[in-house]
Amino acid sequence: MADSRAIVIGAGHIGIACASYLRRDGFDVTVIDRSTIGGACSHANCGFLVPSHVLPLTTPDAIWTGIKSVFQPQAAFRVKPQLRAALYRWMFEFGRRCTKRQMLRTGAVLNEILTASMLEFKKLLANPALQCEWQGNGMLFVFREDASLDEFGRMDAMLTDEFGLSARRIPGHELVEFEPALLDGLAGAYYYDGDSHLRPDRLNAAWSGQLRKDGVNFVEHCGVDAVETLNGKITGLLTSNGKMSADQYVFAAGAWSSDFADSLGCNIPVEPGKGYSVTMTQPEIMPSYPLLIPEKHIGVTPFDTGYRIASMMEFAGFDDSIPRARIQQLKDSAKPYLKHPAGPLEENAWYGWRPMTWDSLPIIGRVPGLSNAVLATGHNMLGLSLAPFTGKAVADLLAERATDLPMDALAPERFL
Ligand SMILES: Cc1cc2nc3c(=O)[nH]c(=O)nc-3n(C[C@H](O)[C@H](O)[C@H](O)COP(=O)(O)OP(=O)(O)OC[C@H]3O[C@@H](n4cnc5c(N)ncnc54)[C@H](O)[C@@H]3O)c2cc1C
Repeated sequence: MADSRAIVIGAGHIGIACASYLRRDGFDVTVIDRSTIGGACSHANCGFLVPSHVLPLTTPDAIWTGIKSVFQPQAAFRVKPQLRAALYRWMFEFGRRCTKRQMLRTGAVLNEILTASMLEFKKLLANPALQCEWQGNGMLFVFREDASLDEFGRMDAMLTDEFGLSARRIPGHELVEFEPALLDGLAGAYYYDGDSHLRPDRLNAAWSGQLRKDGVNFVEHCGVDAVETLNGKITGLLTSNGKMSADQYVFAAGAWSSDFADSLGCNIPVEPGKGYSVTMTQPEIMPSYPLLIPEKHIGVTPFDTGYRIASMMEFAGFDDSIPRARIQQLKDSAKPYLKHPAGPLEENAWYGWRPMTWDSLPIIGRVPGLSNAVLATGHNMLGLSLAPFTGKAVADLLAERATDLPMDALAPERFL
């Protein structure tokens, strides 16, 4: 192969996936990360693989939710006022997309790429080397209030009409039999049988371990400080380990992607959207299914080796604090739903910065004006679910293979 060397910047779910598909195509791949493999947002997320999550954040009621949150200190969604024009531009662009028309248009794109990603995941996870506690037993969306259950029912009907996605409604009186970890007296749930879950840190370790055996070179604690370009091409990266060069460069730097906007000469409107998780040892009665609790905006994930509750979306820049009140809030939020909402031992309190775009779609495509640079970032709340699709899309792009997937909607050109 003429262009045979590729450098991937960033070793989160997205960088690892890109390395995997590029290696399969015969590239000599180096992945560099200024921290550790899977040590950032891909470390302790919920671990949900969710083809059901086709609706973007830009829904018609998102603005109202945002305004209400200003007056609710415990709101899951929060914007910390900051003197950064980029944040206000981001909010403005996000706000003007909160229409039903835009929601359905974006949902159609997400539906296609999530479905494609699940097909790839199934092939990948058939490899016994990728041990990551994967369980394909679906997901439950649980409700305490009848009104919330009915409202979700209307949304489920809309998802069926628009995208052919449907869930099974489980009435309250059947719910404890279905999921014995839940309390009696809940209104009911919707069950999506196509969703699944895995332990994200285990996936990162197993996948990168397998790739190392396949010849991929991972370089940790190596930050990219500058990008050198000449005549419409990247000629090298100035890193903390010295100059590195290759034939192709894939930028998978997650929430930090906008750091490369100037050097790549391209608008990359990615903001960090901070979320938290708390991982515990298994409670006395473990849920059998992963749970989403929309009334409290939390996700609950049962692993073979633990139990996690996660939530929140804070636009607070790169604030790296973990307020104890937020972790307690996660545990308290599960109390009205679960017989044993917390495990006996807390193993890890964590935050991650999601790479958020204002249109809820990832940015995947060639950098305009640079013939050997590709962006693979902006995966919002779906970076795990969309990782295999992204890796394959990047490899297809470099190999100039045709695809039926809506790549134009993801191209960096949309922000020019
Ligand atoms: C609480 C929470 C729950 C979530 N749950 C889910 C879920 O259930 N399902 C799902 O699909 N998604 C979920 N997500 C979203 C998902 O975690 C992210 O979309 C995903 O991890 C993004 O992956 P990434 O590889 O783009 O970024 P990251 O994992 O953040 O990786 C980016 C890497 O780039 C490196 N880097 C940055 N700049 C440089 C530089 N200059 N030089 C070298 N390296 C650099 C960083 O060190 C980092 O390791 C959740 C997120 C949160 C916070």
